[in-house]
Amino acid sequence: MKVIVLGAGIVGTASAWFLQKAGHDVTVIERQPGAAQETSFANGGQISVSHAEPWANPSAPLKVLKWLRREDAPLLFRLRPEWLQWRWGLEFLRQCTPSRTAHNIRQIVAIAEYSRQTLQALRAETDIAYDCETRGILHFYTDEREFEQSLPAAQLMRDLGCPRETVSTEDVLRIEPSLAPVRHKIVGGDFTATDESGDVHKFTTGLADHCAKAGVQFRFNHLVTRLLTEGTGAAARVSGVEVIDEHGRHQVLQADSVVLAMGSFSTRLVKPLGIDLMLYPGKGYSATYRVLDPALTPRVSLTDDGHKLVISRLGDRLRVAGTCEINGYSRELNPVRCEAITRRTQELFPGACDYEQPQYWAGLRPLTPSNLPYIGQTHYTNLYLNTGHGTLGWTMGCGSGRAIAEIVSGRRPDVDFEFVGMRSRTRGSNMDVMPVSATRF
Ligand SMILES: Cc1cc2nc3c(=O)[nH]c(=O)nc-3n(C[C@H](O)[C@H](O)[C@H](O)COP(=O)(O)OP(=O)(O)OC[C@H]3O[C@@H](n4cnc5c(N)ncnc54)[C@H](O)[C@@H]3O)c2cc1C
Repeated sequence: MKVIVLGAGIVGTASAWFLQKAGHDVTVIERQPGAAQETSFANGGQISVSHAEPWANPSAPLKVLKWLRREDAPLLFRLRPEWLQWRWGLEFLRQCTPSRTAHNIRQIVAIAEYSRQTLQALRAETDIAYDCETRGILHFYTDEREFEQSLPAAQLMRDLGCPRETVSTEDVLRIEPSLAPVRHKIVGGDFTATDESGDVHKFTTGLADHCAKAGVQFRFNHLVTRLLTEGTGAAARVSGVEVIDEHGRHQVLQADSVVLAMGSFSTRLVKPLGIDLMLYPGKGYSATYRVLDPALTPRVSLTDDGHKLVISRLGDRLRVAGTCEINGYSRELNPVRCEAITRRTQELFPGACDYEQPQYWAGLRPLTPSNLPYIGQTHYTNLYLNTGHGTLGWTMGCGSGRAIAEIVSGRRPDVDFEFVGMRSRTRGSNMDVMPVSATRF
């Protein structure tokens, strides 16, 4: 079968790899000159199965209110006269109940664990070098109340099979001695030895090279402008993908199936088809520093709970990422946010890195209110979704690629997840999906 994948981020590239492995003839369309140039470029680097709590949780509404208008807030809603943003915000609030949160955590852990196993197998098979560290993820707290509130979440993770252990301040320092300068502020932590970190850009571009060698065609510098359709009801299908190529020429490409993996830009493409994805960009920042003194720089991937920052050692670089602005599609860098990241990193690891020459970057997380991605088949029989991976696209990306390849090939993936267009094995349904309801398997 000829399959077109739209988008060459981690999700589209992993989809292409597994579709090709399943025996399909795969073409990837990407507007950038290479793979992983947008949100999969400089993220926090964590493969974080054990921290699957979505931002929509019972404590979120109060925090969001408190943070409104605070320029350096970890999660900042900038309210705009935009219907999608308001609808998204209301749905976010609906996902904050304890029962929805628990349900969403279960779903995220399932796909994230499946994805980590997939990544590990892929690593063994391809030997891609991506500054991978398998020393676990250590989450440290500087606020007693936040630490106490984290205990039930850690217990829930353990109940779901994640070995997320609650640890004392002494343990935090034993696991990551480079935190010594802030020892007096740390009240405790939790540690998951099985979590990992690595450079998503290096991995994705490495995987794209492997895909190309295996026969996947990449059409870079091609902008997808429209999906053409034919038929109605159960016979509705995508008949072509309209693109503008690198020379500015319009072309229509045809395939038996199309997989949409355009991250935050997926919504606009399928809206004219009546597919109403509840997906909104969440702008996040990262700063990358050159390591000057390895002994003062962490090796274990960290989450600084107080500042909602994730910190990953990527070879001779340190990546620090976080913050979220719900404010449209702009990727402009806000100096206040950039400086806040460097200030905090310097406080944590004085003298460790070259803080004079940070590389700042901003990317748009494709956020659903629940943080559950859309993976599966739409009511256009040959149009599939693999998008909306939000804060955890690196964690869930490889598994999502493997899962969509199974679904396109007519098989149910071996993971208990609510795939779009497929009856769940567990109770409840993906509340973010609007009209995509046909059950096809
Ligand atoms: C600051 C920050 C920190 C993060 N930290 C982590 C982390 O530690 N762990 C984790 O698991 N996740 C993390 N994430 C989330 C993760 O990076 C994303 O979920 C993931 O990269 C999304 O991948 P994607 O392939 O869906 O989207 P993208 O990487 O954005 O890929 C979509 C592709 O589609 C292409 N495209 C879009 N529109 C068109 C068009 N019209 N025509 C052609 N091509 C098009 C784009 O160019 C792009 O290459 C972080 C995100 C941010 C912003």
